[in-house]
Amino acid sequence: MRTPARVSACLFALFSAAGAGAAPQLATAPFRPDSGTLTVRCGMLIDGISDTPVRDATVIIREGRVTYAGPTAGATVQGEVLDLGKHTCLPGLIDMHDHIADRPNDTHDLRIYFTRDAATQRVVAQENANITLAAGFTTIRSPGAYIAWAENDIRDRVNRGEVAGPRIQAAGIYLTIPGGGGDLLVPGVAEKDIPAHVRMGVARGPEQFAEKARLAVAHGVDFIKVIASGAVLAYGGVPGSPEMTPEELRAVVQVAHAAGIKVAAHAHGAQSIKEAIEAGADTIEHASLADDEAIALAAKRKVALSMDVYNGDYIATVGREQGWPEEFLRKNDETTEAQRQVFTKAWKAGAPIVYGTDAAVYPHGLNGRQFRIMVARGMPAMDAIRAATSVSARYMGWEDRVGALAPGRFGDLIAVPGNPLEDITLLEKVPVVVKGGLLFKYPAK
Ligand SMILES: [Zn+2]
Repeated sequence: MRTPARVSACLFALFSAAGAGAAPQLATAPFRPDSGTLTVRCGMLIDGISDTPVRDATVIIREGRVTYAGPTAGATVQGEVLDLGKHTCLPGLIDMHDHIADRPNDTHDLRIYFTRDAATQRVVAQENANITLAAGFTTIRSPGAYIAWAENDIRDRVNRGEVAGPRIQAAGIYLTIPGGGGDLLVPGVAEKDIPAHVRMGVARGPEQFAEKARLAVAHGVDFIKVIASGAVLAYGGVPGSPEMTPEELRAVVQVAHAAGIKVAAHAHGAQSIKEAIEAGADTIEHASLADDEAIALAAKRKVALSMDVYNGDYIATVGREQGWPEEFLRKNDETTEAQRQVFTKAWKAGAPIVYGTDAAVYPHGLNGRQFRIMVARGMPAMDAIRAATSVSARYMGWEDRVGALAPGRFGDLIAVPGNPLEDITLLEKVPVVVKGGLLFKYPAK
């Protein structure tokens, strides 16, 4: 094997120009191997699927895709070499619940969306995309934005290579009842003063909802987001109480599945979780107040729960500091600990768990903080990692593309110093990010 140190020294030199001393950021331009092939030498490899890691491993990425991932002994070095001999390599992480077009400091006064122009919206989304990729999340699902189709815009700009960011699946709009958890009716603002593009997904009755679902499909969304029951950060409503009816949910699922796309249902309460599962939803977000029956149903039907078990801590502290509406804070207190207990039960009952943080309620870039709560609440570290890699990929319908370091999938790789199976918080500060075989982040020397 060629000495990797020589080549990696060049990479160090390249990236040390990016800003020594400061927290590692994305490179101004990603490093693209001249040969089209990048060989990554890893002290340890967690491939996103296997039960056990491989020590002294090599990953080879050619033309953006993984061609080899396994023991170094079985690898033939090709192209440029990135020496991460003291690091653990993992697949790029996946966040199933990252509102890429919104930011948390806007959440407490929703009126900001009534005046935000398209140019500002694009800057916000672009900043979030940069930060999210730098945090090691190379793929996300963006389940709705208040400004219609803002997610589609950032997704397409990342795909065209204009913006550094994760691979994105966009839902585009929230499908929600009038005054529901995804509607932007704000107390004290007359309905006529609210622009139509922030209420694009509001409907009532199965026919209207089917029509909204077809509108979303026509706009090229990757999946559909329904607000089955009340939201925590919305006025009126109880987080657990059903909003959309079973008939409305079924109408949306029918349109989505006929178009070959999945449905993510926002549901806190046990009844609405069960109704969403019965209606055919593919994943349930939040699931804070699930009962034993709802958990058993999710386990039986293999419907994944995406539970944002960290962000209650953020809302409780920052929300109080910033004077968020008392109603939001109260609902947050009512759902945070309850949700963590449900998480433990659901995991033990065999319900599929995917990694979803509700980033945008808490800041983009802190996505990795949720791992520590999942592990503290009973999930083995390897399973928490799989929840954020291969399991999420499966529920996105992207298991042929992302979620594992395995031949054929995209060359999306992160690395951390040390062993994340012993210290899961290592995933909160990811110093190395490769996406599609391009090196986007490397620590300055
Ligand atoms: Zn959300």
